[in-house]
Amino acid sequence: MVGLATLVLVIGPHRIDQSPWYAGLVILPLLILVAAQLFAFRCPHCGERAVRGHYGYWVASDTCAKCLRDFEGASLSDDQLAEKLIAEDNPELAQKLRQRRLEEEELRKRAPTDAQAAAILEGMLKERLEGVEAWVRDMQRLYALKQTDKADLVAAEVSLNKLQADLRWCMGLTSGPAQRSRLTCA
Ligand SMILES: [Zn+2]
Repeated sequence: MVGLATLVLVIGPHRIDQSPWYAGLVILPLLILVAAQLFAFRCPHCGERAVRGHYGYWVASDTCAKCLRDFEGASLSDDQLAEKLIAEDNPELAQKLRQRRLEEEELRKRAPTDAQAAAILEGMLKERLEGVEAWVRDMQRLYALKQTDKADLVAAEVSLNKLQADLRWCMGLTSGPAQRSRLTCA
């Protein structure tokens, strides 16, 4: 802004009144400043550029085109984001998903010290495993047919690996005390 004030003083305010060209000269640095800030702005969640070229236009949105999170919103987990997107069409389903997620978080916290919670959690994870395995098989098939990107296949495989790791952790909790008691009895 100091630069702008200097420019006005150098040109002289009376000339700006006389000629629209001088006014343009004064406004230009301001426009460049605003444009630079706009183009430099990146999504606080994933770092993607916020202003994007689209069909020949530059579009500024309040939602990130890459990770779909609101620029000014909280950094949502993938589950929370899915719930938000589903809620736009189907609030009831989103509510059910949210309940299930909270229930699972609670079970996860209790599982290490509560055998019953660990057993319920194990059941939930095993149920989900079938769906995620089917998803990976679908993605492998589509990728082989070149109908999907490598990134989609990798995302499915990452989800499967994470779920399998969760399940191993959970089964370690449920089988741990039983094995230990068998060992001590033997
Ligand atoms: Zn983003």
